[in-house]
Amino acid sequence: MAIREILDTEFEQECEVCSAVRWIPEDDVTVGIERDGQLDPKVVALPACSTCGSREFLICSADDEPEHPSPGSFGHRHRLMVDVLHSKLVKRGRVTEGIDPTKAQGRERTAEELDRWFKGRLRIRREDEREGKTRPEVEPVEPPQ
Ligand SMILES: [Zn+2]
Repeated sequence: MAIREILDTEFEQECEVCSAVRWIPEDDVTVGIERDGQLDPKVVALPACSTCGSREFLICSADDEPEHPSPGSFGHRHRLMVDVLHSKLVKRGRVTEGIDPTKAQGRERTAEELDRWFKGRLRIRREDEREGKTRPEVEPVEPPQ
């Protein structure tokens, strides 16, 4: 479930299962999937991986989602990227039939917020985390006594 970079009309994905990396045109994805007979406008279904066939889903933030517990982490920045991608798709009308685009619009990330975490380039790499450039996604917790 990881996207690595967002450009104007396409984005880069790393398959969670086989680690294959590919560019996906925005025209190949739509916002919203059907679940239990309901259309969920917060989900973006990615095309099946051409290497291993697995399908991944990106889920954007809830409107009332609290601030991420670990600002600057891979998880936090990935969440911001998903929100940006989701918002772009809705604005371009890339929504599943039956979903009202005005209701599908999720949380807007401001330019200031994005600039703070991405410095002008919507790109993340897991390696950054390993090299200690950003804090880990999960904060260490004290074991119970
Ligand atoms: Zn794969």
